[in-house]
Amino acid sequence: MLGNLGGNLKDALKKIAGKTVIDKASVEELVKDLQRALIQADVNVKLVMNLSQTIKKRALGEEPPKGVTAREHVLRIVYQELVGLMGGAGEFSLVSQTILMAGLQGSGKTTTTAKLARYFQRKGLKPGVICADTFRPGAYTQLNTLCSKINIPCFGDPDEHDALKIVKEGLEGISYCDVIIIDTQGRHALEDELIDEIININKISEPDHRWLVIDAALGQQASEQARRFHEAIGIDGVIITKMDGTAKGGGALSAVSETGSGIIFIGQGETIEDFERFDPDGFISRLLGMGDLKALVERAEEALSVEELDPEAILKGKFTLRDMYKQLEAINKMGPLKQVMGMMPLGNMKIPDDAYDITSNKMDRYKVIMDSMTPAELDNPSMINSSRIHRIAHGAGAGPEEVRELLKYYKMMNKTMKGLRGGKFNMQRMMKKFGGGA
Ligand code: GDP
Ligand code: MG
Repeated sequence: MLGNLGGNLKDALKKIAGKTVIDKASVEELVKDLQRALIQADVNVKLVMNLSQTIKKRALGEEPPKGVTAREHVLRIVYQELVGLMGGAGEFSLVSQTILMAGLQGSGKTTTTAKLARYFQRKGLKPGVICADTFRPGAYTQLNTLCSKINIPCFGDPDEHDALKIVKEGLEGISYCDVIIIDTQGRHALEDELIDEIININKISEPDHRWLVIDAALGQQASEQARRFHEAIGIDGVIITKMDGTAKGGGALSAVSETGSGIIFIGQGETIEDFERFDPDGFISRLLGMGDLKALVERAEEALSVEELDPEAILKGKFTLRDMYKQLEAINKMGPLKQVMGMMPLGNMKIPDDAYDITSNKMDRYKVIMDSMTPAELDNPSMINSSRIHRIAHGAGAGPEEVRELLKYYKMMNKTMKGLRGGKFNMQRMMKKFGGGA
């Protein structure tokens, strides 16, 4: 997706990796690389210039927050500004509603109508579609074929030439559906006739949403279409299709966001499942290869607020069995450890494979064993000698080898935590970097 944009952005950021001081020359080089990457993706030159001015000013003018390296600081600025370039995501709710689809012929309206119906169906709603395209031969068959595969009712009449009549009848005919999506005709170009028809369909159907479907290959020309349709019927969401097939996606995304219409979905393939909700944070994180930071930060915050894990204490150098107990619980809440680690920007840091190798069953066993330890043992695991191991095992109904295994796991985690403390990375710092104000 997006051709080389992701790779080029990553390369640009790699150049400043490892630098402890970011000077004017390296910021200027970074900004030049970013400019080249964005212009290649067809982002409007003026937008690119504004963006690079802001990045330069912030990177050189803002003091990095405490505990954040210069490089991380610049990375965060680039991330925030790129997210800003994508604009806010469009909003809608998972309730009963009518949605009118607009767009030129070939933009992907019919395919997207079926994809959307599938999306709502997965969310537990009962969608239905109306084919109001009386212009393109075979329009009804195309939509009906897509929808019958997923058991979604499709209203239409291939012999009827009056699109307004179909819409009126359709709203009655499938009124038992929660979400009604109206697929309309498109012409090759923005003609008055097309605009008149969509204005009329909009009047009689009184939809809750008017969504515009745009082909990503248009690049920055997408803004012209977005404006025209917006003037006609008031577009409140844009779906950009064919993100899989063009290097100009960056241009389409930024051009649309500049018109003020939020992007709600992107289509990236011909099958009904090649469709995703657009989220600027997640999108840019993935583009920059930073993992899905926003999702991770949210999950980490949830887990930590419940568990009162004391990152400050861990930072200061003490990682006890008690901390590990809390940590196991917190990690459990965040999801599988490997997945959690996969979302983190760990750079070259190596986590021992064994650290992942703990099942929730084992976690529960470990907790039982730790429950039969004394507070002193939890705070100071090094005092646990052979006779204590036997006592703990007995109390927990476990074998001494299980207790030894737990202690071995603790030692490995302790070492890993020390490595993390060693400067390259820790959760607390990462959350500070990417959490507040991002
Ligand atoms: P409409 O004229 O606006 O209704 O457009 P269609 O839904 O008929 O789509 C036109 C063509 O684009 C079809 O061949 C679709 O399979 C294709 N298409 C639609 N969305 C996507 C997409 O996200 N990716 C790709 N690669 N093709 C798409
Ligand atoms: Mg169509």
